[in-house]
Amino acid sequence: MSRWENEIVKAASILSVSTKTVVMSGAGVSAESNIPTFRDAGGLWDQMDPVEAGTADNLFAQLEQNADKLKPILNDLLNAFGKAEPNPGHTALFDLEKMGILKTVITQNIDNLHREAGNTDIIEMHGNMFQMRCLGCGHKAILDRKSYVSDIEEKLKTITKLDFSAIVSLALHCEHCSSIMRPDVVMFGEEVQAMSESFQAAQDSDAMLVLGTSGVVYPAAYLPFEAKKAGAGIIVINPKENPFDKITDVYIPMKTGEALPAIVQEIRNQAGAS
Ligand SMILES: [Zn+2]
Repeated sequence: MSRWENEIVKAASILSVSTKTVVMSGAGVSAESNIPTFRDAGGLWDQMDPVEAGTADNLFAQLEQNADKLKPILNDLLNAFGKAEPNPGHTALFDLEKMGILKTVITQNIDNLHREAGNTDIIEMHGNMFQMRCLGCGHKAILDRKSYVSDIEEKLKTITKLDFSAIVSLALHCEHCSSIMRPDVVMFGEEVQAMSESFQAAQDSDAMLVLGTSGVVYPAAYLPFEAKKAGAGIIVINPKENPFDKITDVYIPMKTGEALPAIVQEIRNQAGAS
């Protein structure tokens, strides 16, 4: 019995009558799979000012100036992204989809783990690091995460100077028009993706699971308020804080990888008992 048993029962009761639950997941969910958040990625932004690096030209200039510091950080990041596996929270979200409860996962995470866990209706507001987008024709391709990471790791070993041409040499080329492809992730100064689909999903929801998100990154932080206006029950799972205090129906201060499997089990128990 968890200390938060009452909250888990309440969350299960909300979800068991839902057919259109929407998830909003943030960095905390990926952190449970050992993906570092950008703020604590080896102090990357202590070395490089993200405001000054706002344009591509500035970004490349700063990359060159900081190449010595950047390479080990890049290696650590690649290592984390390459080794990560979906955690029990990701798996429980796929269980909820198979049970006909969960409809859409909206995520700020770029690590592809919701897709690898099995969920099929996913909106990636900040893009996906393992999806490439052609700068010529716009063609998109999803890569195999682990083999892509090991390819880049091998190429990095042969690069001594991390300058513009070295970075370009790491890029893949489009199979249709052979232009350079870039990771389909939202960088500083770029707009988030699929904004209207995200708001639509929140407005159509009958419950929302708000998972491991700080609530300070807009426009994503508006979505629970949209869901609440539409009458959805709001369940927040976050071991650190509840930034949506005013609109929350159930708050569970646990890791998502512990709370979500317990909620799935409780839904099954309630179904079995009735
Ligand atoms: Zn192309």
